Amino acid sequence: MNKPYIPLPEAFVCRIHREFPQEASLLLEALDGPQSWGMRINPLRKDARILSERLSDKIDHVPWCSEGYYYDGERIHPGRHPYHNAGLYYLQDPSAMAVAEVLDVVPGQMVLDLCAAPGGKATAIASKLAGKGLLVANEYVRNRAPLLSSNLERWGVINGMVTSAHPDRLAEIWGEGFDRVLVDAPCSGEGMFRKDPATRQAWTPAAADACPGRQKLLLSSAARLVRRGGRLVYSTCTFSPAENEDIVCWFLDTHPDYAPYSFSIPGWRPGKNGETYCARMAPHIGRGEGHFVAAFLRIEGSSPSIARKKLPPCKDAKTWKAFWDEMGGAPLPGQLVQEGDCFHLYPDILLETHGITCLRAGIPLGRAGKGYFVPHHSLAMTGLVCSQFPLDFGAGQADAYLAGEVLPCSGKGWMVASLDGAPLGWGKASQGQLKNHLPAGLRRCSISKWEEEPI
Ligand code: SAM
Repeated sequence: MNKPYIPLPEAFVCRIHREFPQEASLLLEALDGPQSWGMRINPLRKDARILSERLSDKIDHVPWCSEGYYYDGERIHPGRHPYHNAGLYYLQDPSAMAVAEVLDVVPGQMVLDLCAAPGGKATAIASKLAGKGLLVANEYVRNRAPLLSSNLERWGVINGMVTSAHPDRLAEIWGEGFDRVLVDAPCSGEGMFRKDPATRQAWTPAAADACPGRQKLLLSSAARLVRRGGRLVYSTCTFSPAENEDIVCWFLDTHPDYAPYSFSIPGWRPGKNGETYCARMAPHIGRGEGHFVAAFLRIEGSSPSIARKKLPPCKDAKTWKAFWDEMGGAPLPGQLVQEGDCFHLYPDILLETHGITCLRAGIPLGRAGKGYFVPHHSLAMTGLVCSQFPLDFGAGQADAYLAGEVLPCSGKGWMVASLDGAPLGWGKASQGQLKNHLPAGLRRCSISKWEEEPI
């Protein structure tokens, strides 16, 4: 479907001519061209490898992200396929994929994504942690946090916390303890003018002028959360130097304990003045929307470690263990805790929350009753449950399951309804039927549509 044409704001066009005189026409013309579409494969799903092999010779790789692919969004609709519900990929602007690469996360680190909703970069960070260490995904705007939590659940993240707190409050309670902190800042969003023309209408000079002040405050809070020797990455999806290079310059001037950290992303340009610790992408430069990234290194020294939450040992996990044995599940990473009749798996590293809103910490495993156990959806999405009910996609079973329907099934007991090995959710089989336990909020009635020819 063609999007209605919305002209670029006049004040924006004038500013681009002033700030980028040599390439303004190319950039402005490219902003009226077709957008780039990207999907990032989930390496936490062992079966995602099969998908990436299938995609490799059909669609192009994103040069700066080994898990990223371009697709033709006019022709194929991966967001409507059950693979998306199964967390096999995340749909993301290809340029945005570069940010987690610059953050350079390795398994075992403590990483804070300060402005995380809806979770594009947080899911990429979780992929890089590979289940080891801790991801804290924070979203200050409270009503945006549940979608972030749900996306991390879909992605199968076990070693994560989702919080909703003011960045200053996080700095107060946690201090300088994170190996990596990402500030994917709220910005004027000019880089989205092509992908989402409605953003052209929302843009005003006054709204754009309000951004740098907010970005400075955010970076100042973030700077207090990075451990000595750790790294801070700042990103925006705007072309405006006032929100990009000028902020970076201000940050280095006002934070003597930080140094610029040089990096390069294939196909990207350095900062406007040649800064090698900044990178720019724009639609006339490469295949992606407008994005900016900068990296800083906190000078070496010793940082106190953040207070870890102490968990009570789980005294009697008989019901859980009996259930998990039945599921053929391998030992789960983390700490098992019982809270009332609920079982929870917390990551090995868990931070004290000191009263801030925490929507998610590790994963809920389920609820035990007398002689039974009702598993939680999060557990199905870890992909670690062996007892599976393979859905026949061609026969419409995956769509029927996602619509909440009961399916014919000859087995007995709890099973994870799965498509090509990737989990969609729980079902309980008895008397020839699989009763559907997909949470009501995740059900959908549309029929999946990937593309004209199947992959
Ligand atoms: N990192 C996200 C992703 O990759 O999906 C996108 C983040 S978006 C660019 C910026 C986020 O900052 C939004 O979710 C927004 O709600 C949040 N935000 C808005 N105002 C904020 C503030 N004053 N402090 C912190 N975060 C804020």
